[in-house]
Amino acid sequence: IQTITAYTAVNEPVLSYEDGCEEKEALLKTLEKYSSSTEDVPIVIGDEEFRTKEIKYQVEPFDHQVKIAKYYNATPELVQKAIENSLKARKAWDRTPLEARCDIFLKAADLMSKEYRMDLMATTMMGQAKNIVQAEIDAVCELIDFLRFNVQYALSLQTQQPLSPSAFETINSQNLRGMEGFWAAISPFNFTAIGGNLCQSPAIMGNVTVWKPSDTAMLSNYLVYKIYREAGLPPGVINFVPADGPVFGNTVTASKHLAGINFTGSVRTFQHLWKQVANNIEKYRTYPRLIGECGGKNFHFVHKSGDLESVVNGTIRSAFEYGGQKCSACSRMYIPQSMWPEVKEKMLKIHKEIQVGSPLEVETFVSAVIDDKSFARNKSYLDHAKSSPNLTILAGGKCDDSKGYFVEPTIIETTDPEDKIMKEEIFGPILTVYPYPDDQYKEVADILEETSPFALTGAIFALDEEVKEELIDKFRDCAGNFYINDKSTGSVVGQQPFGGNRLSGMNLKECCCPLSYDAPVKGGHYSF
Ligand code: GLU
Repeated sequence: IQTITAYTAVNEPVLSYEDGCEEKEALLKTLEKYSSSTEDVPIVIGDEEFRTKEIKYQVEPFDHQVKIAKYYNATPELVQKAIENSLKARKAWDRTPLEARCDIFLKAADLMSKEYRMDLMATTMMGQAKNIVQAEIDAVCELIDFLRFNVQYALSLQTQQPLSPSAFETINSQNLRGMEGFWAAISPFNFTAIGGNLCQSPAIMGNVTVWKPSDTAMLSNYLVYKIYREAGLPPGVINFVPADGPVFGNTVTASKHLAGINFTGSVRTFQHLWKQVANNIEKYRTYPRLIGECGGKNFHFVHKSGDLESVVNGTIRSAFEYGGQKCSACSRMYIPQSMWPEVKEKMLKIHKEIQVGSPLEVETFVSAVIDDKSFARNKSYLDHAKSSPNLTILAGGKCDDSKGYFVEPTIIETTDPEDKIMKEEIFGPILTVYPYPDDQYKEVADILEETSPFALTGAIFALDEEVKEELIDKFRDCAGNFYINDKSTGSVVGQQPFGGNRLSGMNLKECCCPLSYDAPVKGGHYSF
């Protein structure tokens, strides 16, 4: 292996998959390949594959008849075995120079960019119901970007912290080490890139991980795991362990070797993990680091000086791309009453053109939500909207799970900024708008500031410089990622670090997940 000591990452170019181009043809062939079989996904611990009696299937969210993967849930004994195996692997991995560890992940990034690009696309499109654009920016570009920027960041750490004056002479030979013990990585369905990052970012720093992928992202996540191995990752450094959530959580938090948890998912699960860690605190050999990225109730706050077209397009994209299932998706908008009629008219016009269907069809903009639980949750908010006098459904409002878990992109108007639909996370294509009296933006900003338990992303639309500065200051704690005159989604690795405040998360990824937090902030985007 050729080792590197410094590296400058650049973002993976986003391909456009025009009809007839080489990539499009290759993608269609790969989709075809996966549509004719149900892939077998084992548990992998060290070098060994396991298949338990607890057989599960990953189905296409937009067609539950189609099983794309068969997988097996690990028993508590197998989760335990994975922990022990990872600890064995740690001995050599932790002693492997950082440069050599980085080489492996850069090789994985290259494999993803070329050999496996179409497989990552196809498994994410079919398994997680992403259309071409959404799959490309997630399962290919963001995943590769995480790998490359993590390498850049990890290598830069070596020169940032010389140990002592005499160490200055050997500055580049410091050996950054992982923590004693193992990391548990628990990842969500909505970004293949996040799964790939949560298991890999501790590993790059010399840690070992036991990874529980999401049930509904199984196939794409298994592929990511296999690519890491093909790139040279030794067995046991990352263990691939599908499991029932509580079985996995209880077993890893009961291990005295727990070094940390790298988590993205719901507030409830993260809080439960904290409690489990607290209950076991006297058992541990160290203080486990808990890093969590949880939900959001992201907002677009429009001032009357805001640019109308940006509001319309930005809000449609943020609320409905990937069916509102990005953690960063806008689900509530506050807009001056004077602007609303025109914005409403334009949004309803676009809404009529939104194609809902299979993500495999090029024209589809919104596909199904991920599973039955998500469908039921979305439906309950639609039912609430139908029965509440404060809420009017302006567009959409229907849902149908006969073939897939389809929820229509829905726009609701409310007269009550404190209705639960303005406070609770829905995680689906439902946007609620509160038109407020133009002269009351300060009072409405107070309500938003007070009522939000989450603080993941938010955006303001205001061209008046004074108001803009006032709102930036006002919403300082309301969003980890805060956008000015831009939609609340679409952070790019290396340009905009991603993370929330309040119950949305700890914004602490840099402890073990070295994202590129030091890159210059792009115009229109502030990260607090
Ligand atoms: N980074 C993504 C964005 O900015 C969201 C990630 C997530 O859903 O957790 O849209």
